[in-house]
Amino acid sequence: MATSLKVAVIGSGVAGLVAARELQRESHQVVVFEKSPWLGGTWVYDPRVESDLLGLDPNRGIVHGSLYKSLRTNLPRQLMSFTDFKFEDKVYNDPRINPGHEEVLKFLEDFASIFKLTKLIRFSTVVTRVEVVGSGNIEFEVESETNGVSSVEMYDAVVVCNGHNTQPRLANDIRGLETWPKKQMHSHNYRIPEPFRDQKVVVIGNGPSATDLSREIAMVAKEVHKSSRSQNVKVAKSEKFNNMWQHSEINYVSKDGTITFQDGISVDADIIFHCTGYKLQYPFLKTNGIVTIQDKRIGPLYKHVFPPQLAPKLSFVGIPEQSFTFSIIECQSRWIAHTLSKKVCLPSEVEMLSEVEKYYEAMKGKGIPEHLTHYIGFQVASDHLRDALSVIFGLSVTQGEFIAPRFTWRSVSTRYKRYIGDILIYSKNKQEHNEHLKLI
Ligand code: FAD
Repeated sequence: MATSLKVAVIGSGVAGLVAARELQRESHQVVVFEKSPWLGGTWVYDPRVESDLLGLDPNRGIVHGSLYKSLRTNLPRQLMSFTDFKFEDKVYNDPRINPGHEEVLKFLEDFASIFKLTKLIRFSTVVTRVEVVGSGNIEFEVESETNGVSSVEMYDAVVVCNGHNTQPRLANDIRGLETWPKKQMHSHNYRIPEPFRDQKVVVIGNGPSATDLSREIAMVAKEVHKSSRSQNVKVAKSEKFNNMWQHSEINYVSKDGTITFQDGISVDADIIFHCTGYKLQYPFLKTNGIVTIQDKRIGPLYKHVFPPQLAPKLSFVGIPEQSFTFSIIECQSRWIAHTLSKKVCLPSEVEMLSEVEKYYEAMKGKGIPEHLTHYIGFQVASDHLRDALSVIFGLSVTQGEFIAPRFTWRSVSTRYKRYIGDILIYSKNKQEHNEHLKLI
């Protein structure tokens, strides 16, 4: 008989909502803690910005969201669907394939309403402590606070879904940066381009935020100078924008305000705009050192989900970055729910730990820095979700096969392909695979 547990889910963003749905389907007793008065997490646009634009002051009021006003999804809506609740079938006000952020929030509100999740959520309730109790039969003490009143409850299991796009991670190893006299801000605090009007801006970063926001501010700024550490960028003037240049890494910045790049060019900039991503943060988690956070690596986590020593009772949803987030969240959530109800088993603690070690070693061998531990492209996603997919969908995804979103099927020129819901499984050689990634 399946086991029913009392489970605390922390957060009601995409990860928390989907986890709650899967746990409820498995008849677990679910309580979702949400510190804000609304559901949707990242997808709730908040026009406020923080008092410290770099996010360094620990006493500042925290704004959770990082969306900017004009944001449209960087994935087509087909890739932000769930296996039985399709975004492409749910057009609210914005029928575009890459809709504005308001459309995603409506989709999530609809999801919560259809699957009767709202009643599970304790709004305006922040989790302040999750502590592991016991050794054989592990339990969790969960302390939370609602309107200044704190309470402590025991839970059989905890699913952590608190998001990871709130605390800025800065490029602070740049020579001279602490004494640079002009304005600096992080993309977490960007909402509209107006503050950049007629300014000379240096944008640090090479990810989606750096790319999107450089284009947006180039419409009003005097000059936009992008700087990237990546060896793959072409140092040149933009072909599309008259006032935009791509540079290499910053060499040093000077007290007179100039910024010198490794390509030798200096710019007298007005603003440094850090589009350098976010830090992982779990201030409430007390595990006696079993789970640690170093830079952007939280671990050890078996397949980015389970800390082997506390599995399956403690789990994390939504940690993988740069991948098809919604599908991965659904897959992880179902895996957790089925594991907690003992429908499926995990490998032994030793096996899971050894797999994590192997993953770390492989990263080291390939020279991949630790902060990219959870950056899983489609190929790595395939490696890490292979077991989970086979357990959940009863299909085996073998070594050499990759997983990608169904939407990309036209660009996959191989006869070795099949589908699980919206997930495409295909095999092809490495070179073709890389070509394929460029198309996404
Ligand atoms: P979140 O959405 O951040 O939700 C976490 C929730 O936990 C929040 O509601 C928060 O209030 C709550 N919480 C946190 N701490 C506590 C606590 N201690 N107690 C109680 N509650 C707590 N993904 C895509 O798929 N497509 C896109 O186009 C896309 N664009 C993006 C653009 C930007 C600018 C950013 C920042 C991200 C984007 N993403 C995109 C990724 C996005 O993060 C994911 O889609 C998804 O929203 C992450 O959901 P989550 O539930 O993990 O976290």
